[in-house]
Amino acid sequence: MELTGRSIIGFKRGQSDSADLHGFNPATGETLIPAYHFATKAEVNEAAELASQAFASYSQTTGVQRATFLRKIASNIEALGDVLISRATQETGLAEGRIRTETGRTCNQLRLFADLVEEGSWVDARIDHADPNRAPIPKPDVRSMLRPLGPVVVFGASNFPLAFSVAGGDTASALAGGNTVIVKAHHAHPGTSELVGMAVSDAARACELHEGVFSLVYGSGSEVGTALVKHPLIKAGGFTGSRSGGRALFDAASSRPEPIPFYAEMSSVNPVVVLPEALKTRMDQIAVGLHASVTLGAGQFCTNPGLVFLQAGNDADAFIAKLGDLMAGSAEQTMLTPGIRSSYQKGVGSRLDQSGVATVVQKTAEASCAAGAALFKVDAETYMANAVLSEEIFGPTTLIVTYENNEQLLELAHSLEGQLTATIHASEKELTGNRELIDVLQTKAGRLLFNGFPTGVEVCHAMVHGGPYPATSDGRSTSVGTRAIFRFTRQVCFQSFPDAALPFELKEGNPLRIWRLVDGKLVK
Ligand code: NAP
Repeated sequence: MELTGRSIIGFKRGQSDSADLHGFNPATGETLIPAYHFATKAEVNEAAELASQAFASYSQTTGVQRATFLRKIASNIEALGDVLISRATQETGLAEGRIRTETGRTCNQLRLFADLVEEGSWVDARIDHADPNRAPIPKPDVRSMLRPLGPVVVFGASNFPLAFSVAGGDTASALAGGNTVIVKAHHAHPGTSELVGMAVSDAARACELHEGVFSLVYGSGSEVGTALVKHPLIKAGGFTGSRSGGRALFDAASSRPEPIPFYAEMSSVNPVVVLPEALKTRMDQIAVGLHASVTLGAGQFCTNPGLVFLQAGNDADAFIAKLGDLMAGSAEQTMLTPGIRSSYQKGVGSRLDQSGVATVVQKTAEASCAAGAALFKVDAETYMANAVLSEEIFGPTTLIVTYENNEQLLELAHSLEGQLTATIHASEKELTGNRELIDVLQTKAGRLLFNGFPTGVEVCHAMVHGGPYPATSDGRSTSVGTRAIFRFTRQVCFQSFPDAALPFELKEGNPLRIWRLVDGKLVK
């Protein structure tokens, strides 16, 4: 499959008058061909118009039709085989094994949503029958279900070039829910984006869907990305990236004449609390697991544990020494982009400037786009007095905060910003004896882990990958797992409608055989 360097606007290709962007191999510094051309204003507008036109028919497709489409996208991605693996490895510097695993995850994610919409009960159909004899006033027939929002703009993430990019979680959940999608490609993997974009576009053609169901545009975030978010035909957005980028786009979405929901996943430091008994009895095991989690994928995970709370004392000192040895033995790793690398260097450099922060390990990296692991420590009082120390540093580093007693640990927990995850290492007795800590952490994070590590997010029905601001722009939602479908939907109610005019999900005879709440009882 040949790369063209052009946007995919419905079933057509964008302009090729300018050469605005090249793929780049961060491991070798090599510039990759072809050149990529940014979408023009007219093309952005055309993609939005097509997405809006396609919504009229796509939103009315059955769950079975959407499942067929999602499965076709998955099989088309698999059919790309080594072409996709090779391009993604070149553009990201990530190991082949990681790219293969992520490709599998992306296809499984699409199929999980396919199963969900094929079964159909996710629409949360509710029926309250009429009672014309109710006194003092008759009760009307009221039925409701979830319906899609309209065209959704999705921003591909740099750190998951497949699972959170063109056909990643945001796209899969939006399409599954009956929305049309325009993806703004991430500049870090343009060729990978085009390959996957063609797989989606070919699937739309094979399933005989309106061409506007999917478009992929290249361009800068501030121009093309913002233009899409502000476009009156766009009805929602999904994003994973920096706090500054997510916040700027969220503000653009909220300040439109017609504000729209914008689900941004931004920054999280994913605190890990190691309680004293666990520290004493499992010191080596926790140090090894934490080191692996902090350095995984050069630390470029939104769930990277960037903060560790330990009770001050001999055990904490021994643990820090052990973790320091492991971090010092870590090989340098290639980062995704020169920009991410320079942010990492800046973040690590700024730790050194903060008074009261001690460097345990700081490894330098030889290669121009590589990162060395870094470990810092600070006491709780200094940490809580300096907001800079609570900021995410995207890369293989973590900050150990030592506290004096339980009271101070609770103060630390209360001081946290919103997080994607919070982890407690403890014996079961310690955990149940720290109810208040669990209660506080529940108000801070979307996912609480016991004796584990936060990297590695299972794609399943119960997963919550979200959390209060700034982890996300809307802590009521998740971007991973089947619950993600609810972000791009809204409730619509039909009152006193004749059966023939109701959606299939709400018809009296339940032709789709889905679970429904009928007069307060869940029945099929
Ligand atoms: P990013 O800079 O936030 O970019 C993500 C997307 O948003 C890109 O398409 C970008 O467009 C667009 N964008 C950024 N700022 C914008 C703005 N002010 N207005 C409109 N659009 C904007 O993220 P990144 O490039 O992936 O990585 C940069 C940093 O983000 C990392 O160093 C890390 O700190 C953080 N990050 C965090 C996570 C996480 O999950 N917590 C994940 C990835 C990155 P362009 O193509 O023009 O850049």
